[in-house]
Amino acid sequence: MSDYKAKFTVIPCAVCGQLVDVDNFGQGKCKYCGWHQDEMSLEYTDKVEYPNMVSFNKAKALYKKGLPLKPSLDDFIAGLKYYKEMEFEYDGMLYGVLWSEQIELGEYFEEDPAKWQFFDDFEEFKQKAHIGGKLLKDIWYNVTNADYMICR
Ligand SMILES: [Zn+2]
Repeated sequence: MSDYKAKFTVIPCAVCGQLVDVDNFGQGKCKYCGWHQDEMSLEYTDKVEYPNMVSFNKAKALYKKGLPLKPSLDDFIAGLKYYKEMEFEYDGMLYGVLWSEQIELGEYFEEDPAKWQFFDDFEEFKQKAHIGGKLLKDIWYNVTNADYMICR
């Protein structure tokens, strides 16, 4: 118990002000608004900085309006540029977006490359990526859990 306490400090969340446990590196996720306490995000306040999916300024604006800290498609692409492996859910399905030489989009566990979409650059991905023929940019408001990919 005392060991646990020694490792964590409690600070007010930079976005909503509720108390958050942070580790030795000052990192911890706020369970109230979802903001990850993170020094880089506070330094570059208009940039999407891992592990957050929206910039600090956008997070504050969303929080003020009572909205969740949900990334736009542009925020998601900013995350993709940094992290290279992203995921999101749409209509009950989990999708992966990978960036190496091309940008690839497909259902998470789909191993048949013919069922994946490939794009040469981020703009093409933004304009042409689709789910079952519906453009991702048009259905983005229905996308959930858009985030950095975690090991499953
Ligand atoms: Zn918070």
